[in-house]
Amino acid sequence: MNKRIVILGAAESGVGAAVLAQKKGFDVFVSDGGKIKAHYKEMLIQHGIEWEEGHHTEELILNADEIIKSPGIPDTAPMVQKVREANIPIISEIEFAGRYTNSKMICITGSNGKTTTTSLIYHIFQGAGYDVGLAGNIGHSLALQVAEEPHEYYVIELSSFQLDNMYDFRANVAVLLNITPDHLDRYDGKMQNYTDAKMRIIRNQTKDDAFVYWNEDPIISAELKKYNIESRLCPFSIIKKEGMIGYIADGEYVIESPTPFNMEQESLALHGKHNMYNSLAAGIAADVSGISNAAIREGLSTFQGVEHRLEFVCRVRGVQYINDSKATNVDACWYALESMTTPTILILGGLDKGNDYSAIKDLVMQKCKALVFLGVDNSKLHAFFDPLGIPTTDTRSMRECMDACYSQAQAGDTVLLSPCCASFDLFKNMEDRGEQFKSIARSL
Ligand code: ADP
Repeated sequence: MNKRIVILGAAESGVGAAVLAQKKGFDVFVSDGGKIKAHYKEMLIQHGIEWEEGHHTEELILNADEIIKSPGIPDTAPMVQKVREANIPIISEIEFAGRYTNSKMICITGSNGKTTTTSLIYHIFQGAGYDVGLAGNIGHSLALQVAEEPHEYYVIELSSFQLDNMYDFRANVAVLLNITPDHLDRYDGKMQNYTDAKMRIIRNQTKDDAFVYWNEDPIISAELKKYNIESRLCPFSIIKKEGMIGYIADGEYVIESPTPFNMEQESLALHGKHNMYNSLAAGIAADVSGISNAAIREGLSTFQGVEHRLEFVCRVRGVQYINDSKATNVDACWYALESMTTPTILILGGLDKGNDYSAIKDLVMQKCKALVFLGVDNSKLHAFFDPLGIPTTDTRSMRECMDACYSQAQAGDTVLLSPCCASFDLFKNMEDRGEQFKSIARSL
């Protein structure tokens, strides 16, 4: 009898995994506790794959030889617990897809900057004429591409949730941007658990692989001492230092090896301190992959940026509006504030994932003239920020929030949406929050 693979969660990763599993001759079943989007249903039907939605039928799941779980489903979900009790191995879609390809994998993780860096690396590879696919948290499912549209290289954004269920997968180039508190609600509130998930990116790397990481991150530095790493170490820093593979010195962006490269910092497409890190990581990943200096220079200077990440929206009566809706944790907001050069009205709030706001306290005091809270429950924000003596306003819709910003902003100010929180209390998702911000700003 064929081995049975059951897939929990039928969105991009789950449906992609199902298509690949079907192609490889497994007995495949897909179960989603919620509603499956029409587009994914069609794909399942087209491929003749059995599925269910709205519930999980235990008899059809607990007879699996292996389970592929969507990264969106937490370990605490009752069905996942039952699978664990039944001792059925759980893997991620990326792990599964990795078994069926020998392509080169460029994998990016970190608490912040993943999407930006992944998109930038993809942009450089494409510009260089490489046969490359974009996968993981962005782009199409890796499994689907392996099944239907294989590439020689994949650039893959990996969240900690994807890394959680990866075991034998090997990244030829692993990029670790930073580790700061995030998603602690999914890691028993324990930072070490989240850190361990991130460090899984270097699992199985060999001496032929490369590990690109931010040298100044205190958590990464401490973790490195615990591992016996065989891959080529490629640390980067924004200051020139002994041992750095990439750095910024005297206005020059420099990569020392394997192929020496430099360009003027001014010519980089992305601005802000955090984007120096992202540009260094991307340039090194491209350099170790053999991409020419000309293509790296071209890629780093022509990248358009990614929507909802410190995105300039418009200027209305001298007030600049910036959409950083993707800043769903405190560290991301720190970098946004750090790059502000004019008095700022900061929009904060939403679903708090266990935030400690003390990291941004000094920058808020230095840069913000007003704070506008946008969330169903703003009490934690009030408790922390009210004592700073900066005017605060409570709002519960984007319209109300933008009215509050508009009435307080003067020519020369910046209105910055960099909310530190998830968006699901008032919006469909962070994109919806960013879209609403942009469309109201443009109509002011
Ligand atoms: P991710 O995919 O890891 O969430 P994004 O590229 O989508 O990362 O950026 C998320 C947020 O973090 C944005 O607000 C962005 O401005 C900020 N950010 C981007 N790169 C970094 C970095 N290297 N360090 C800290 N914050 C960053």
